Amino acid sequence: MKFKPVFENVTRPIQVLGPCSAETEQQVMETARQLAENDVKVDLFRAGIWKPRTRPNSFEGIGAEGLEWLKKVRDEFGYKITTEVANKDHAFEAVKAKVDVVWIGARTTVNPFAVQEIADALKGTDIPVLVKNPINPDLKLWMGGIERLLNVGLDRVGVIHRGFSKFGKSVFRNSPQWQIPLALKQEFPGIQILCDASHIAGNRENLYSVSQAALNLNFDGVMLETHPTPDDAWSDAAQQVTPADLKKNVLDKLIVRKET
Ligand code: PEP
Ligand code: MN
Repeated sequence: MKFKPVFENVTRPIQVLGPCSAETEQQVMETARQLAENDVKVDLFRAGIWKPRTRPNSFEGIGAEGLEWLKKVRDEFGYKITTEVANKDHAFEAVKAKVDVVWIGARTTVNPFAVQEIADALKGTDIPVLVKNPINPDLKLWMGGIERLLNVGLDRVGVIHRGFSKFGKSVFRNSPQWQIPLALKQEFPGIQILCDASHIAGNRENLYSVSQAALNLNFDGVMLETHPTPDDAWSDAAQQVTPADLKKNVLDKLIVRKET
């Protein structure tokens, strides 16, 4: 099946950056402002506004109101914007707001009915879609998510590797099992693939090593979470860093070893 790149005319590594969640207008704008002030290359600005959380009673996202803040980031800083969609209503809202790219999260890719409903809602648009791997290490389920989009004629499709759930403690929040994204690349030669090192690492210390490992495996880029006051973040505080720290400790150190 044919697909086109999500990112065009970009130098590697592709950088998708922004907070885990949009919390307040001020926090979203401040994140963008600090990225700009630090001269960070932002190929796409991310923020979750509908947050599927593993357990209830945690912050489940600000909702559609956050789309206005993302649009403000685009207007003021010129960054393209993306958010996660987990059902057809989100997909319709995102299209209405002219979000540049949407992504499907790991807890949605596991559910073929949910992916199909999103695909059907996006049908007829040319919005690019990034598909995160399912939380479980199931290559075919990941492929199925991509195929459901291609089947309705959406052809600007890329993927994000965010690691796989596991039980018990390990150095990683989500185990990378690199053989699975590498197998996916073989199934869809040329598909753009990003590494969400934030959700694989689950901490600040390993963001660089996971990102560099991905680039060594010829990934096209990274998705990384950044927050102006990470310790106060309403979700995923442990893995977020300020834009200045992200630049200094991660992005500036990354080396692209191979060009393809
Ligand atoms: C996120 O990107 O903040 C997120 C919820 O990710 P995932 O779907 O990979 O858990
Ligand atoms: Mn997150």
